[in-house]
Amino acid sequence: MSDLLPVEDAVARILEHFQPLPVETINLLDSLGHVLAFDILADIDSPPFPNSSMDGYAVIAQDTQGADQQQPARLRVVMDIPAGSMPTDAIGAGEAARIMTGAPLPDGANAVIPVEQTDQGWRSGENPPLPDYVNIYRTVDPGDSTRPRGEDFMVGDVVLPALTPIRPQEMGVLAALGYSGVPVICQPRVVILSTGDELVEVDEPLTPGKIRDVNGYTLYGLVKAYGGQAVRLPIVRDNLEDARLRFREALEYQPDIILSSAGVSVGTFDVVRTVLEEMGEINFWRVNLRPGKPVAFGHVGGVPFFGLPGNPVSAMVTFDVFVRPALLKLTSQPDAVQTVNAVLGEDLQSDGRRSYLRVNLRRDGNTLIATTTGTQSSGALTSMVKADGLIIIPEGVQYASAGEIFSVRLLRPV
Ligand code: AMP
Ligand code: MG
Repeated sequence: MSDLLPVEDAVARILEHFQPLPVETINLLDSLGHVLAFDILADIDSPPFPNSSMDGYAVIAQDTQGADQQQPARLRVVMDIPAGSMPTDAIGAGEAARIMTGAPLPDGANAVIPVEQTDQGWRSGENPPLPDYVNIYRTVDPGDSTRPRGEDFMVGDVVLPALTPIRPQEMGVLAALGYSGVPVICQPRVVILSTGDELVEVDEPLTPGKIRDVNGYTLYGLVKAYGGQAVRLPIVRDNLEDARLRFREALEYQPDIILSSAGVSVGTFDVVRTVLEEMGEINFWRVNLRPGKPVAFGHVGGVPFFGLPGNPVSAMVTFDVFVRPALLKLTSQPDAVQTVNAVLGEDLQSDGRRSYLRVNLRRDGNTLIATTTGTQSSGALTSMVKADGLIIIPEGVQYASAGEIFSVRLLRPV
């Protein structure tokens, strides 16, 4: 056991080789999933003027005192304020202005009465002539159906702090503030290589002895899920020429990371390993982790390189444990691994390495019960589809009994 590298030590060694990426300005429409580089301060109030939240009539609230269905308040209509226009005048006592949702309140007005609570209909697709008078069937209070200036944010507010990941709502706020170009941290570029003569491309027929490349797609998805730009190259064949060609091709993308799966098993003749030794340096680590043997880390042509295991579950788990923190560091994002505590619902054998097992979680009162999804073969990728999370059986544990509590890395919300 003692010759196995602890997971945390391996991660720390890896992270020494990564520093946050520089800043670039990109089109607002392309900004989803990027990380904001700077604080975004408001240079306007939003809304920029007090406005109506309903289609109706802008009034002075006091003028509607005591109004109801039997005794409506009768106000003189002096103005029409469609959306996008400015009031031409103020309203005075006994006066009202027809107003559209979002249009600026005229001076003098302090409330809006929705059109449904007046004697005026409002048929869509038409602009009925402005009535001379409007009957108001309800007493309104000052502020009713209006939105004050600066209700959302005011000049000088830090509306979006630096390092905020951009979601659709952040895109909207940036639009409100006029950011057609957005300062973001460059997205890490990751080239993904799948290796092995047994692999065929996804659109090729399966012939005897072959399987389709899976890791090229799970790793692609993982890179994108953690804010990277992924490039998947054609399958690398188990010969030196092809491996050299593909690694050179990978370097042409000037990536921040090169990720390969399979072909780095210790003790076997492996072309990837040979090429890596020619083009850079590589370390093979026996990490205290299951699944996840072996993992290689090094540099190719100056670019950090991860050699992940070939088995699809192992490739995903080792990405999560080793590559994800590197991607997050490149974009200055906190490591927001979501874990919950769960009670083991069955007895489990472990082998003393830190183990990530696929489990389903079910709620029982205030506790979560974890049961394995079935086969834990690291080739059984549907275990990752079925699982709610990965239960983490710590290093040193050989046997875990039902009822013990362990941490679970969530794969979907519970
Ligand atoms: P290796 O790491 O080369 O010993 O591969 C371990 C297992 O993973 C073997 O069964 C391989 O066929 C399988 N494997 C390797 N690469 C892939 C891949 N890209 N997609 C699916 N399975 C793979
Ligand atoms: Mg292989």
